[in-house]
Amino acid sequence: MQYSVAPYAADPAHSQGRRYPEAAPQYRSEFQRDRDRIIHSKAFRRLEYKTQVFVNHEGDLYRTRLTHSLEVAQIARSVARSMGLNEDLTEAIALSHDLGHTPFGHAGQDELNDCMKAFGGFEHNLQSLRVVDVLEDSYADFPGINLTFETREGILKHCAVKHAAALGDVGERFLNKTQPSLEAQLTNLADEIAYNNHDIEDGLRSGLITLAQLQEVPVFAAEYEAVLKAYPDLQGRRLIRETLRRMIGRMVVDLTESSQAAILASGVQTLAEVRAQSAALIRYSETMRSQKNVLKKFLRENLYFHPTVYRMTWRARQVVRALFAAYMQDVRLLTPKYQAFAKRYEAETGEAGRARAIADFIAGMTDRYAMREYGQLFDLAGLR
Ligand code: MG
Repeated sequence: MQYSVAPYAADPAHSQGRRYPEAAPQYRSEFQRDRDRIIHSKAFRRLEYKTQVFVNHEGDLYRTRLTHSLEVAQIARSVARSMGLNEDLTEAIALSHDLGHTPFGHAGQDELNDCMKAFGGFEHNLQSLRVVDVLEDSYADFPGINLTFETREGILKHCAVKHAAALGDVGERFLNKTQPSLEAQLTNLADEIAYNNHDIEDGLRSGLITLAQLQEVPVFAAEYEAVLKAYPDLQGRRLIRETLRRMIGRMVVDLTESSQAAILASGVQTLAEVRAQSAALIRYSETMRSQKNVLKKFLRENLYFHPTVYRMTWRARQVVRALFAAYMQDVRLLTPKYQAFAKRYEAETGEAGRARAIADFIAGMTDRYAMREYGQLFDLAGLR
């Protein structure tokens, strides 16, 4: 198979640049350098111990944010290559898209957002950008990891209009209603393909959802039937995984073909023309889009709001809320590094500044770090 670079792909030689100008890298492209910096970051290593749906210690085979990010990168990269898009940029965005995620998945993010309501709120997309722009501290010449505009644009996949104005270059598209690069659009949908499929597998593994229930999801049922027809004796995990492998393949092929058709119909020839479009060009067919929505609804109703998951969510929210309240009351409970941040930000913007430093600290925690910290501060009976 022959691959070529499409004229509308992002070009590392024409990047819109970094926040702090640097000399061009030797023997690798600007986007490769971004990808490499992400892999070497502290926030990336922490993804291993952060929840996707199931809390980190529940079982060794469940997805974590790290394995999820790797699956997103695999899907996004293979589509990028076949469509002639920039694979390095795609991979950089995929590997960094969840760097700002709190411990305990969406429960942690929702609770931290509630805690921060009076202080500007908390959004994990914004936090991912904050991690790479500000919070990582490994380089002598600049704060953060100083990524290119194109990777930062991809990280910020959603953003409330009220926050966009303060974000400078990467916030502009939310005000102007323009599109990001195709690499960013693609990674966004690859994220969805990855979690919709792996959440089915993890949900079945946990026993919280069943194969019988999944028969009401057409995109699953169709592949399941096809597998059973071809392999009538196949059972158990192997049957499930063969079904999911085909589902991912179906979604990827649909996405590739629908997007190619949309690009062709739009007539875009350059990245600037991609950005000027009124809608994203990376998309599913109408049929796949509605089937995917049925699947998402199924997962929401039957897995994410399952009573067992809900109890776990409720407990996770208590942990985040209690930690936030304790640090707000007494910043001396923070690590020295975050005490210094809290004092500095408080001097700049008052109580909101202190709250932001605390949100940064909590968002950076892994599940087990947060639980240990909660135990140390509140489980007085457990003190030895
Ligand atoms: Mg994700």
